[in-house]
Amino acid sequence: MEYFPPALESLVEQFARLPGVGKKSAQRLAFFVLGLPDEDAQAFADAILAAKKSISLCPVCQNFTEGEGLCPICRNSRRDETTICVVADPKDVNALERSREYNGRYHVLHGVISPMNHVGPDDLHIKELLDRVTQGEIREVIMATNPTTEGEATAMYLSRLLKPFGVKVTRLAYGVPVGGQLEFADDATLTRALEGRREM
Ligand SMILES: [Zn+2]
Repeated sequence: MEYFPPALESLVEQFARLPGVGKKSAQRLAFFVLGLPDEDAQAFADAILAAKKSISLCPVCQNFTEGEGLCPICRNSRRDETTICVVADPKDVNALERSREYNGRYHVLHGVISPMNHVGPDDLHIKELLDRVTQGEIREVIMATNPTTEGEATAMYLSRLLKPFGVKVTRLAYGVPVGGQLEFADDATLTRALEGRREM
């Protein structure tokens, strides 16, 4: 049986809580942190606390932003506010911004509907999206969830919710391979996916 001093055991447990990190990796990360010079370990801990303190969700698009107000994209009056691109995660916003093809706004769901992982519509930021569509001058909502089973099901679900509001709902034309992920698609693929989007 393995034995670590309690403080090390607790550090391992914290790392093991991170997504995709198993027990063995958690131990490796904990040992790595223990091997850091004091100031580096301090900087690591400080970065976690500082991010927790200063990062909040944009009240409109729900993307991460620094401070309390609107995120830079929602604040930017040069961006088309009649088009909303719906993504699962903040990292997908980064991927689409990298392609420089898209000039509308975003909406971040923070996940996809996944019965297997007990994620239902109420666990996502869907209500905020509906509020935007009912209140604003939204003409088109682009579904840019990943082309996985869950991403497709989420896009279909939202499309049915949104259609009654008379808004055009489109889906990215995936050159992104089925089962693939937006964040790993190259810029040219994303550009084609946006250009070739189809009405749902
Ligand atoms: Zn925003």
